[in-house]
Amino acid sequence: MPAIKLEPSVKQGLFQRVTSVFEVINLLPDELSDEEVEGLTLLLPCDVVNTLNALFVPRARRASISFGKMLGRWLEEARRAKEEGRKVILVPFNFIPELVHAFGGAFPLTSEILTTLGVALLEGQGERYWDYAMGLGIPDHICSSSTIELGSMLAGEDFKADAIISSGPGGCDANAKIHEFVAHYLGIPQFILEKPVDDSPRGKEQYRRYVYRLVEELEEFIGEKLDEDRLRSVIENCNRATELYLELWEMRKNIPCPVPNLFSFFSYGCRFTMWGRPEAVDCLQAMVDVSRERLEAGAYPADKEIARCGWLYTGYYFDFIGLHNWMEERGYSYLCDMLNLCFPQPISTESKESMLDGLALAAANMPMTHQMGGDSMSLSWLDDAIYIVKDLNANCAIFSGHHACKQSWSVVSIIRSELMKQAGVPVLCLQGDSWSRTITPMSVIQRELDQFVKNVVTKKKKRVRPRKGRAREEG
Ligand code: SF4
Repeated sequence: MPAIKLEPSVKQGLFQRVTSVFEVINLLPDELSDEEVEGLTLLLPCDVVNTLNALFVPRARRASISFGKMLGRWLEEARRAKEEGRKVILVPFNFIPELVHAFGGAFPLTSEILTTLGVALLEGQGERYWDYAMGLGIPDHICSSSTIELGSMLAGEDFKADAIISSGPGGCDANAKIHEFVAHYLGIPQFILEKPVDDSPRGKEQYRRYVYRLVEELEEFIGEKLDEDRLRSVIENCNRATELYLELWEMRKNIPCPVPNLFSFFSYGCRFTMWGRPEAVDCLQAMVDVSRERLEAGAYPADKEIARCGWLYTGYYFDFIGLHNWMEERGYSYLCDMLNLCFPQPISTESKESMLDGLALAAANMPMTHQMGGDSMSLSWLDDAIYIVKDLNANCAIFSGHHACKQSWSVVSIIRSELMKQAGVPVLCLQGDSWSRTITPMSVIQRELDQFVKNVVTKKKKRVRPRKGRAREEG
């Protein structure tokens, strides 16, 4: 491929720029006053301020700081790992990072989380890296979730991973192909974990064998045998995180929902980065503590909870204040989206085999793998959509209509009509790009959401009952 002349704007890589923002976040105390937040935001560009204003809203601030510090540690460790000659392995969000954490000589970096941080925290969001990737001739229907960070890597000025694990095959061709392309382009090895499109016992056994084979390949590449004691300590952290994750899920069943809308993103942010590490446990604990206090106080940011929304696939990540906080302040709870469906389960630490078997099951349960990699994409996705609606008592469902996600677009009409028939909830189908404001701006999304709630959700038979003795909360 001919060399492309770099514009100055992509000469500074996304990883490097995001890491600089986190150097500031890492210096923050665990508690911040409103004045301190205001002072901090005066120093920063407006795209960054928009996100920080969302995260530092008083009702979520304590957990936001914990989440920020966890991600700061994650980025810092990746940088240090590289300097120390450990292998930094790029993984997609549907891979289990705890497996890489179990190796002393390796560290996982998740493409989609890097993209999300770039979009949320950098001036100009991730647009310059996306444009660069498009300039290389990559089609625009390749998913922006990974292409923004990978575009930065392709520009050659970003942090360079030592290898890629691709767990897209079987779940998403777009995801698999862009990771494969980057591995070839950068000349780094790619390890594939394919999900067989077969959920019978035979298919599950095949997948378990693939996970075992991947462990052997990683052992050879990293030059280290997977140590049973180290693996056990990682799994113990996974088990503690699982308890907290499920506690948070249970709390979402309350009406009104005491779990702030932002915690949907924070909780899978933990799952996709530091799962298996004490930092993820601390962050989930902060979310549980905040939500429990809100439950006990009956706190909710609006006069009443009008809409309990289950998002059917991804959310939008380019304007947290315009989506998550805006919704909550109007009484629209963002209960969860499909990326929250990773079904964590306790893993037996009895033997190395029991732990690896548990990890194989965890990998099969990861979002995207579980729905799109099922033996019938529409049925697996529908089962999970019905589970969200019924288990969390949602009174509506929303499909973000992510631009790249052709496979979810191909069956969403089935999901919409079956959800109405089987769970009795209406579905709003939006169109936009989850990681780019240039396709559909947030003002349009807000208008569509408002009209849907006012004209459809509230006109249906009421299912939401306000809890007695609830206090209205400011901020
Ligand atoms: S959002 Fe859709 S296109 Fe993007 S990685 Fe997920 S399944 Fe693939």
